[in-house]
Amino acid sequence: MIATLPSCEDDFDRDSLTCDEALRRLLAAVSPVEGIEKVPLRASLDRVLAEDVISTVNVPAHTNSAMDGYAVRGDDLPAQGTVELRVVGSSFAGQPYPAAVKSGECVRIMTGAVMPEGTDTVVIQERVERREDMIRVGSGHKAGDNVRAAGEDIAAGHTVLKAGRRLTPADLGLLASLGIGTVPVRRRLRVAFLSTGDELKPIGEELAPGEIHDSNRYTLHAMLTRMGAEVTDLGIVRDDRAATLSAFERAAQGHDAVISSGGVSVGEADYVKETLQALGQVQFWKVAMKPGRPLTFGRIGDAMFFGLPGNPVSVMVTFYQFVQPTLRKMMGETPRKPLLLKAVTRSRLRKKPGRMEFQRAILECDENGKLTVSKTGMQGSGILTSMSQANCFIILPMDSGAVEPGTLVDVQPFDGLI
Ligand code: AMP
Ligand code: MG
Repeated sequence: MIATLPSCEDDFDRDSLTCDEALRRLLAAVSPVEGIEKVPLRASLDRVLAEDVISTVNVPAHTNSAMDGYAVRGDDLPAQGTVELRVVGSSFAGQPYPAAVKSGECVRIMTGAVMPEGTDTVVIQERVERREDMIRVGSGHKAGDNVRAAGEDIAAGHTVLKAGRRLTPADLGLLASLGIGTVPVRRRLRVAFLSTGDELKPIGEELAPGEIHDSNRYTLHAMLTRMGAEVTDLGIVRDDRAATLSAFERAAQGHDAVISSGGVSVGEADYVKETLQALGQVQFWKVAMKPGRPLTFGRIGDAMFFGLPGNPVSVMVTFYQFVQPTLRKMMGETPRKPLLLKAVTRSRLRKKPGRMEFQRAILECDENGKLTVSKTGMQGSGILTSMSQANCFIILPMDSGAVEPGTLVDVQPFDGLI
């Protein structure tokens, strides 16, 4: 009789963690880095805000006109019939009218210009008849029309942006409107990554039979760069005890996090596990997910360590689902759940109950405006084209079996993952 060990083929595994539990443990184990740096406003894009921004001013600073027209006193506007008002001057953006406006008077005003004292309403130019220095205004206007109140966008004393926010183009504009030219942000996270495997060759070297190019270091580099990390590529580490040990020791120095790929399955040449057991406090998890069941996590020296599976799609799935949210927390970002949508699947989705699956797919809007999703071909964990063609994950819950076309499924768009 042949004894069977647990393998990647099994779908139910009592020792496995759910994805939610794995993420909960990861997030609980890390805290934000402490360093803060002050950067010029333009350089703060995509950085994580380190302190709340409280406005010291009103935006807009003055009550101003929302349209081109005439600034009038609301009391002068007729309930019926018409009224004539004398144009006593003008208020342009940057050149306000300097005096108070009396009853029976009005001021020519342009969009953005300060409302003259005494006025509270703008009648748009298309609704008046102008003859020399007089205008005639009819009924149907309301006091307060076409005016933007001081502080209506941002009131002085108000918290405009909260610490923990990754700054967007709109945020930069907002900060500029407050006159803020320097922004306190968390320092960049220093992340090292490496690949393990005797079969791996760098680009530019000939492949002998059985060898493959190392692609994981390119996906990892790209995903980390997008997150704004300061990355160190530590290259390929051979499946060898001494090489693995020295690579991990080196990696932990001067980095906040270290990410390895490969070498965590039950292969004979997998030294990662024993090296880590010797070096640090590391846990080996089986996560009830597909692809990407084995996950190693812990600490070596001062660095958090993530040991990802070797298969190229597993690397990306585990990075997006676990590493990215954990690094975001280390970067000081306020944790948030990624966007999840519902869409109708056009494809039949093969699945066995037991693990949560992250199938790669294309999310589209059909002719009727309905969200639909179709899988990108074969879903093997080594098939990187399935990931490259996709713009989302279809997330199928653990207990789900195969899913028929026409069924509503959960979809996580890549755009929400950075
Ligand atoms: P392992 O976990 O080391 O057994 O690797 C699982 C599978 O992923 C094997 O087929 C490896 O050849 C492949 N693999 C591991 N590392 C890489 C890498 N850096 N680039 C591409 N494929 C890899
Ligand atoms: Mg390997």
